Amino acid sequence: MAMDETTSVYDVAVIGAGAAGTSAAIFTARAGLRTLLVDAGESGLVKAALYNHLGYERVSGPEFLQLAKEQARAAGAEFVEARVTGLELSSSGDRVYSLKAENGQEFLARHVILCTGKSLDLARQAGLELTAGRERKYPEIIKVDSDGRTSLTGVWAAGAVAGASPHTIIVAGDGARVAINLLSELQGKRVVDHDVLPVQTPAATA
Ligand SMILES: Cc1cc2nc3c(=O)[nH]c(=O)nc-3n(C[C@H](O)[C@H](O)[C@H](O)COP(=O)(O)OP(=O)(O)OC[C@H]3O[C@@H](n4cnc5c(N)ncnc54)[C@H](O)[C@@H]3O)c2cc1C
Repeated sequence: MAMDETTSVYDVAVIGAGAAGTSAAIFTARAGLRTLLVDAGESGLVKAALYNHLGYERVSGPEFLQLAKEQARAAGAEFVEARVTGLELSSSGDRVYSLKAENGQEFLARHVILCTGKSLDLARQAGLELTAGRERKYPEIIKVDSDGRTSLTGVWAAGAVAGASPHTIIVAGDGARVAINLLSELQGKRVVDHDVLPVQTPAATA
């Protein structure tokens, strides 16, 4: 384990690197927040073939996951493969969360976004309020407000685990939406992440 992982505090820890989590991490990392993305490697996407994700005629689930993780890394997120089994406030006095992984690693983060798909284990362990879900395969979900905040201050949730319709384009959008809401809360104003094409000079286009 790198020293950093135990001694320094991430701004945001995103738990779950499916479409929701990778998308959330891309936005928080691009905004300059030190972002940790942790994943246990059990996204439903490993068995999926996607024909309904805008921008791809067809892409396999594993390829999509790989591209998404690479994009999150390129944006600056640190990716760790591990299962987080404990989420609680650390004893530091500040509002910093301690995330304990099955393999003994510990991470500290000021904000957490749970994107754990079908798994409510961590939400239950942390004592988050749950509620009935309306999607057939997600009968129970994490209770969130309209911005994605859970019942624990500083802990947010996005994607299928928070009730988004289980389609990659929808959960990816939900991860981005919740990340933007978190960033907007931190900055005290609505955040927009837009890039523009560089101006093409006639010489460059010739
Ligand atoms: C067979 C199959 C086919 C599908 N086909 C399509 C399709 O054609 N089109 C479409 O749009 N959608 C499809 N989907 C649905 C799509 O895969 C889901 O909607 C989407 O994966 C949900 O995204 P998510 O990011 O919310 O959760 P997930 O993709 O499930 O990701 C959750 C991640 O969190 C991780 N995790 C959970 N708990 C922890 C923990 N405690 N610590 C660390 N990591 C944790 C898991 O390992 C997982 O990687 C399909 C799903 C399946 C199963």
